[in-house]
Amino acid sequence: MTYDVIVVGIGGMGSAAAWRLARRGVRVLGLERYDIPHAMGSSHGVTRIIRLPYYEAPAYVPLLRRAYELWREIEAASGRALLVTTGSIDAGPEDGALFQGALASARVHDLPHEILTAAQTTDRFPAYRLAPEARAIYQPDGGFIVSERAIIAHVEAAQDAGAVIHAREPVLEWGVRPDGTVRVVTPARVYEAERLVLTAGAWIGDLVAPLAPLAIPERQVLAWLQPSEPALFRPNRFPVFNLEVEEGRYYGLPIYDVPGFKFGRFHHRGETGRPEMLRQEPDVEDERLLRQFAARYFPAGNGALMALRSCLFTNTPDEHFILDHHPLHPQVVIASPCSGHGYKFCSVIGEILADLATGDGTTRHDIGFLRLSRLGPPAGQV
Ligand SMILES: Cc1cc2nc3c(=O)[nH]c(=O)nc-3n(C[C@H](O)[C@H](O)[C@H](O)COP(=O)(O)OP(=O)(O)OC[C@H]3O[C@@H](n4cnc5c(N)ncnc54)[C@H](O)[C@@H]3O)c2cc1C
Repeated sequence: MTYDVIVVGIGGMGSAAAWRLARRGVRVLGLERYDIPHAMGSSHGVTRIIRLPYYEAPAYVPLLRRAYELWREIEAASGRALLVTTGSIDAGPEDGALFQGALASARVHDLPHEILTAAQTTDRFPAYRLAPEARAIYQPDGGFIVSERAIIAHVEAAQDAGAVIHAREPVLEWGVRPDGTVRVVTPARVYEAERLVLTAGAWIGDLVAPLAPLAIPERQVLAWLQPSEPALFRPNRFPVFNLEVEEGRYYGLPIYDVPGFKFGRFHHRGETGRPEMLRQEPDVEDERLLRQFAARYFPAGNGALMALRSCLFTNTPDEHFILDHHPLHPQVVIASPCSGHGYKFCSVIGEILADLATGDGTTRHDIGFLRLSRLGPPAGQV
């Protein structure tokens, strides 16, 4: 079977890429090793934060603006509610990397924002109990994406535009033929295409071996706890947050679809390894570690356990994404290692992947800071 583009991995990024390609009239095949959607990778757990004053680097903000536009576009196309606005809080010590980074992004890009003390934050959003000396940036456009629903929306829209999508069909290997076409092997058959998009998330190192040391899967755990005052944790009263505190860096979201307030700790217990080696089932130590945080900073949210779920980050050495052509094969495009903060960008990364995998392979988006070459020459043959 011959296609214009094959997309490997129909998770957050791959589903968006399949839609953006199909709506341009490209003949697309999407191949996914598990179900669509599923809970083995990086995009499950109901919701993902989206926020504009990006403390990780101001260069992400133009991509975020486009991501918002494209989330609204797929919402309209699918008729599904995908983006819920709550406002965002980025808080920590005034001289800390998180607060200063968010402030820099807000100022460089002239984003509407307010700086709040800990007491002002509690006055506005009573569930919050920040350390007294903490400073918070409130930005009204923050919120969350309903992540598995968004995968479904992208897949259905891609199918409506003519894409062929197969679940439970893992890609075993791929190669480039002397004529430049791409060959993709699954247990079912061998496919051919002009171009290939690899959006395999935590498995990207299996498909591009020298990326394995640059894209490290890491186990994360999310907790949902029943609040004593649920009204304070609903989307209209509870902005999504990123907090830098003594215990580490944490993120959280309001009650939505699971009857509990949701949060997690970046680099939870530092457990890295191949996805198959990382424990899926959470344990009492996962809960203990997360509860300590809730008890101190969101005491009204530290009630009965409603859910604990594990999930995978794919970390690069500098925690920025890798979004590029394959260094040896320009007809192959690599995405996915998003270091635990990529979901909000899926809509715009889908557009960028479609740019890189069609025509002359250029994009109008400024992704220079996400190119693979910044991490040095890949070890060995790519
Ligand atoms: C606990 C947690 C919380 C997070 N919170 C946020 C947040 O609040 N905001 C935010 O923006 N980001 C967040 N992230 C990060 C974000 O979720 C990820 O960056 C994003 O989901 C990655 O999408 P992906 O498409 O790369 O991976 P996935 O959605 O996992 O997709 C990769 C797909 O490739 C498939 N695949 C792999 N190998 C093969 C193969 N050989 N053949 C066929 N298919 C294959 C996999 O089965 C999978 O479906 C969080 C991540 C975690 C784990």
